[in-house]
Amino acid sequence: MGWSVAWHLRQALPAAARITVVAPEEWNQYKSTVLSAGGLRQQFSIPANVEFSLFGLDFFRNFANLDRQQRARTTLQPDHALQDLLHIKMRENGYTFLASTPESAQTLAELVEMQCRLGAATQLATPTQLRARYPWLCVDDIEAGTMSYSGEGFIDPWEYLANLRALCLQTGGIDQRQGRVDRLELDARRTSVAGAWISSPTVDADPAYEPVDLFINCAGCFSNDVFKGTHLSVPVRARKRYVFAIRSSAQNAPGINSPLLVDPSGVYFRPELAPNTYITGVSPKADADPDYSDFSTLAELEDSLFHDQIWPALYNRVPDAFDALRVISSWAGFYDYNTFDQNALIGLMPGMDNLYVCTGFSGHGLQHSPAAGYVISQLVTGQGHKLGSEAFAVERVAANAPILEAGIV
Ligand SMILES: Cc1cc2nc3c(=O)[nH]c(=O)nc-3n(C[C@H](O)[C@H](O)[C@H](O)COP(=O)(O)OP(=O)(O)OC[C@H]3O[C@@H](n4cnc5c(N)ncnc54)[C@H](O)[C@@H]3O)c2cc1C
Repeated sequence: MGWSVAWHLRQALPAAARITVVAPEEWNQYKSTVLSAGGLRQQFSIPANVEFSLFGLDFFRNFANLDRQQRARTTLQPDHALQDLLHIKMRENGYTFLASTPESAQTLAELVEMQCRLGAATQLATPTQLRARYPWLCVDDIEAGTMSYSGEGFIDPWEYLANLRALCLQTGGIDQRQGRVDRLELDARRTSVAGAWISSPTVDADPAYEPVDLFINCAGCFSNDVFKGTHLSVPVRARKRYVFAIRSSAQNAPGINSPLLVDPSGVYFRPELAPNTYITGVSPKADADPDYSDFSTLAELEDSLFHDQIWPALYNRVPDAFDALRVISSWAGFYDYNTFDQNALIGLMPGMDNLYVCTGFSGHGLQHSPAAGYVISQLVTGQGHKLGSEAFAVERVAANAPILEAGIV
């Protein structure tokens, strides 16, 4: 998120403005971004989330051109080596959500209609149509499903992060600073951030003070830690999500062109680029979804989740291929989970005039990061909310006006 905000701010602010992305290198391996499944879809229930996805799709597809456009605006010479690098491979395999009751099938139909109205290419499919396209799929208990032939799929999160960072750093006017924001310093009226105290999470030294004119909190699941020193907070917590990489060499397995499939049980899977390999996961039930307060717990994995919940659902849905499979690795990451309504919080913190927040994406922040960065840049420069993002304004929390997203995976 931080690099997308920096990139879009760079396009919007005067050339003299300096932008610094602050994050500790020691935490790079724990970033939700690199631990994510990389999924990209327009199948959301809230129109603004669909708009955000479409903006992201365009951004990923045109990524290679961003550097060229930037250079055309400035006096920078073409950097051919960098332009070769600046490409994001996207597998547009589609997304399939399955509905197993007449009510959920009706909801899918209504959502597809809304998504298509906004420009998505989602299609509603009968069990027979699903089976014709995906012969490995068991549709015995299925009422309807969705399919898409383009615009949905997945990217490699590492590649996206590395290339966006490279793009930002070569652009000029964007710096990177290793460090952790320990707390913010407000001015006497407590309506502006005057500066930030920055230290290292591993080196024992006094924090250094950095004055700021503008501060955007993009600290993901630990955004509240950055608000230390202020009276402010957001309802965002670290919620653990497990990903299992599995291998099945069965002949009629879904294969490399399989969509990201979301079973009615909530279990999802999608292919990896390595042969016969898939990743899979499921969100825990609400009563088994505690908050976490530091990254050290990410090392604790839960194999029972795979055996008790995921594998039975995979076997049920793809019985001929997923009866025998092997877990080849697993990892956990934190969702930046908005406990209020599982949607992004984007905009000025209420009562503040130079402190913005961009967090709480609850499982869809990777694909929405281009749009979120763009919206922040528009807010900062007085252009107002864009892409329907008024819905994500922070004021809705105090007003107790949640906008619940039904499409959380
Ligand atoms: C298992 C899993 C699967 C997911 N799958 C998908 C998916 O398929 N599609 C999708 O769109 N999204 C997905 N997500 C969600 C997505 O990864 C996140 O919403 C998104 O990456 C959030 O980006 P971020 O930059 O806010 O957070 P992060 O990537 O976590 O970055 C936050 C940054 O803030 C820094 N930071 C934290 N505290 C401080 C501090 N005090 N001072 C300075 N820096 C600080 C961290 O070091 C880090 O660099 C998934 C997440 C997980 C965990």
